[in-house]
Amino acid sequence: MVEEATTLSELEVLVELQELDTRLSQLTHRAATLPEREELIRIQEQDSKLQQDLNQLAGQLTVLRKSQSDREAEIQRLEDKVAKATSSLYGGEMTSPKEATALQSEIDSLSGRQSLLEDQIIEIMEEIEPFAKEESRIEATRTELRTQIADLEHRISAQVTEIESEQHSVTAEKSEVEDRAGPRLSALYTENRKRMGDHTAIGRLVGTSCGACFLEIAAVEIDRIRRLPDDEPSECPECGALLVR
Ligand SMILES: [Zn+2]
Repeated sequence: MVEEATTLSELEVLVELQELDTRLSQLTHRAATLPEREELIRIQEQDSKLQQDLNQLAGQLTVLRKSQSDREAEIQRLEDKVAKATSSLYGGEMTSPKEATALQSEIDSLSGRQSLLEDQIIEIMEEIEPFAKEESRIEATRTELRTQIADLEHRISAQVTEIESEQHSVTAEKSEVEDRAGPRLSALYTENRKRMGDHTAIGRLVGTSCGACFLEIAAVEIDRIRRLPDDEPSECPECGALLVR
């Protein structure tokens, strides 16, 4: 700010207050719109999409693996039966050749069923393979995404901390300026800002136009405003901003 000690208006503090509030608004906006936040949402969406794919794969893999283990259990039962029949056949408890033939035929039939199941298991395992590969691929990608998410969260939190510290110091500065402005001007400013919003509550009188609405103020009004005491605020007749002259 250019120091013009003799001509500096007492109302200048109003401009300072508005500038500090503008900085506070900018900081709030910056904290809410960090580019990392958008990136984080994008990656989280990607991750949850992969989680869905993974759930679907897990469903398919569960069905296939169950079908494999059912067959393995059946093979185990068949092997037990074959072992029992074999032991009867060769255990010397045979009573007749007819019984031996029946046992041999049972063993053949059980073995036939077993080799059919073994072929099916090979087919099932071939079916499982691409699903399992896809599952590993997705899990690896998700591990990578989780690293990125942690990194983004860390960067966001570091920036938020920095912004908060800046907000803290601007707020402290504002309270000093408010002390300087005194309760009357501070209250007037706060009220006008509440009514008119950011950037437009205070306008610097530039020549004969208002710095808030940029409209030309009638000469008779300008005369009246210029004759007011230095610390007596006046409103722009066009927009209502407090004029700093
Ligand atoms: Zn105005």
